[in-house]
Amino acid sequence: MTTTGAPASIPDSHLPASGGLPPIPDHMHVETLAIHAAHGADAATGAVAPPIYLSTTFEREADGSLPHGYLYARDATPNRTSLERVLAALEGGQAAAAFSAGMAATMAVFQSLAPGDHVILPTSVYYGTRKLLDQVFARWGLTMSSVDMQDADNVVGALRPTTRLVWVESPSNPLLAVADIERIATIAHDAGARCAVDNTWATPVAQQPLALGADLVMHSTTKYLGGHGDVTGGALVTREDDEFFQRVRTVQTAGGAVAAPFDCWLVVRGIKTLPCRIRAHTANATAVADFLASHPKVEAVHYPGLASHPGHAIAARQMSAFGGMVSVQVRGGREASLRVKSRVKVFIRATSLGGPESLVEHRASVEAPGSGTPDNLLRLSIGLEHPDDLIADLDQALG
Ligand SMILES: *Cc1c(COP(=O)(O)O)cnc(C)c1O
Repeated sequence: MTTTGAPASIPDSHLPASGGLPPIPDHMHVETLAIHAAHGADAATGAVAPPIYLSTTFEREADGSLPHGYLYARDATPNRTSLERVLAALEGGQAAAAFSAGMAATMAVFQSLAPGDHVILPTSVYYGTRKLLDQVFARWGLTMSSVDMQDADNVVGALRPTTRLVWVESPSNPLLAVADIERIATIAHDAGARCAVDNTWATPVAQQPLALGADLVMHSTTKYLGGHGDVTGGALVTREDDEFFQRVRTVQTAGGAVAAPFDCWLVVRGIKTLPCRIRAHTANATAVADFLASHPKVEAVHYPGLASHPGHAIAARQMSAFGGMVSVQVRGGREASLRVKSRVKVFIRATSLGGPESLVEHRASVEAPGSGTPDNLLRLSIGLEHPDDLIADLDQALG
């Protein structure tokens, strides 16, 4: 990419020029970065909300140079650069790359590996990630092992001389399994491998994998970062803008699975309220998890904030909030859980997560048979309604 000189850490004029990210202002808090790291007021008009630049091409000077650093929209656009800046600032990374979906971001990591490379995945992992490795990348020569990462020693047991990547997801989708990111990153590095963390469920407000030693963070910005259920996107943030990340960049810009200007604008807007929203999601989820944990019709509640959760001690150490996702196993098996799902009135029966509306999903139904998700498990994305109304809804649905 063309470099036009490093912009100020908090930009004071419109959208950033293409090129290097600013130094991360470590004296500023996440609430401030979420609002100011993406852009300042528009230099041309004074507009406080950023403009959306739809242009796919950018004018050259007579001498052929590109004064603002932008060339063509697949390479970079002002709105994408703006999103990448705030993502890098929030995660404490040197650079970020924004994609058209979370899975496009994940795919770019695997595409930056080589045939014959070995990847270690958690047994409890987003279903789409496993599907991508099984159905796409196995045919391209990537090999994979799955281990229960709730015990970090299992990662040691799965290492091979060809292991190049340890993929962590914590808390995991949908079981909220917690992995010790710091230990696993050390294990990976000692074996000459990278450690990438899917941080979608925690968000950088609740958990900062790069500070714990991970090399890469992946996000589905479709979820909490966008935060309103109206945009599909993904992102990678890297601790160092190294040779591996240049390969990721090449996949992003040569392949073109990039986030569109309006989508970047929506995620930048969503991020401004992320710290407030995560606090509210966490407070609501804590109240709901406490209620469910004491309900006679409930077999198990999976929420890392509960002292009874097997990963609670690790989560309390590596997370500053436990997040808005709760999974519950209903007594009476699949039928009983489907009955609860059919009776909710405030929760909406829909997949996905991270928006203001509370959602419920019978997860095993949307995953392939044999996915390992218990048949009586309902995944709850706890929204921003009043917790008493959510609890009353679940209470009547549980009957
Ligand atoms: C949704 C999700 C993804 C996939 O993201 P998309 O934006 O749907 O492509 C990956 N990981 C986790 C944990 C998710 O919840």
